[in-house]
Amino acid sequence: MMRDWEQPAPELAPRPNPNVAGMGLEDLRALVAGLGESPFRAAQIREGLYRHRWTRWEQFSNLSKALRAKLEGRTELRWPEIQESVRSEDGSTKHAFRLEDGSLVEGVHMPYDNRTTLCLSSQVGCAMGCTFCATGLMGIKRNLTAGEIVGQVVTMLNAHGHAGDAAVNLVFMGMGEPLHNLDQVMAAFALLTDPKGLGLSPRRITLSTSGLVSGIQRLAAYARRPRLALSLNATTDAYRDRIMPVNKAWNLAALAAALKAFPLEHGERITLEYVLLKGVTDSLEDGRRLAAFARQFPSKINLIPFNPHEGSGFEPPTEARIGELCGLLAARDLTVSVRRSRGQDVAGACGQLVRGQQD
Ligand code: SAH
Ligand code: SF4
Repeated sequence: MMRDWEQPAPELAPRPNPNVAGMGLEDLRALVAGLGESPFRAAQIREGLYRHRWTRWEQFSNLSKALRAKLEGRTELRWPEIQESVRSEDGSTKHAFRLEDGSLVEGVHMPYDNRTTLCLSSQVGCAMGCTFCATGLMGIKRNLTAGEIVGQVVTMLNAHGHAGDAAVNLVFMGMGEPLHNLDQVMAAFALLTDPKGLGLSPRRITLSTSGLVSGIQRLAAYARRPRLALSLNATTDAYRDRIMPVNKAWNLAALAAALKAFPLEHGERITLEYVLLKGVTDSLEDGRRLAAFARQFPSKINLIPFNPHEGSGFEPPTEARIGELCGLLAARDLTVSVRRSRGQDVAGACGQLVRGQQD
């Protein structure tokens, strides 16, 4: 039987007028050529879209009125729209974005003292079917376009009044499996890190995968790529098979081999995310096996207490156990942090705001 993630996810249907939001320089050049304009207009449009993060043609003061009118009639300029925002007590805000076909995805804005982290979605739903994950329970609807991925960044930075000099971290830890939509994710990465586009640092962008080894190998071949995080979540094949169906295609040994072969820059480490499910993945033996797995390549460990959602059937670990596991890993000289789920009071874990609206 073919699994959902063994075939490409559906794409957004094209519309009569092309959407300029998300076009790179090459597409913009073709667009302006088609409109009978000089090629240098393409760079000006790029500057307006990604440097200034303008959202309406009338804001493009770097273009003539006549050209703006032409663009207005012949193209669309459409970023994802915020349908609902829920602010958490800890200062983070979860946004549900409405896309042009009515689909909803979520993104989270998390401000810290000297940086801002944005959590992005890469697909509408997810094909991987992890049993503890709200997005996994939805199934896959379609891939996001590069424009819809970049659009989450543009829209959140605009909504929160980003000045442009503060550091921005991006994590692909919202809805979807980014390696199941690698082409669009990498097209978005190019726009996000283009010095003449959004100009974000590639080192501050992290792609999190459930362990699609074919995708890890494809990612490894890119000269410029985001940092890698792996959702390990279990330390034996028996348990990983149970909570992450992808493990039946690539088990822990296959994963470890792919991660050992992944070319790292000097000082770069692979993040191992580990969701703690009470009584399932949070034993002290798990801690010891996690340590052994992590020692096979440069890594840091991020423990994530399960964020409960209705109907999941799993429970979060006790505080005492989180502390014991942290101690056990730190005693083995591993770098370990605990992700205190931001926005937990507003259904902050992956997929939960959107799922609440669809139910
Ligand atoms: N699909 C990718 C990225 C999105 S999920 C992946 O799986 O890595 C981002 C992270 O959230 C993953 O580490 C996943 O294991 C974790 N996660 C999903 N549901 C969760 C929940 N209910 N509580 C805590 N972490 C969860
Ligand atoms: Fe998809 Fe990641 Fe959720 Fe698994 S944990 S279902 S890969 S979003």
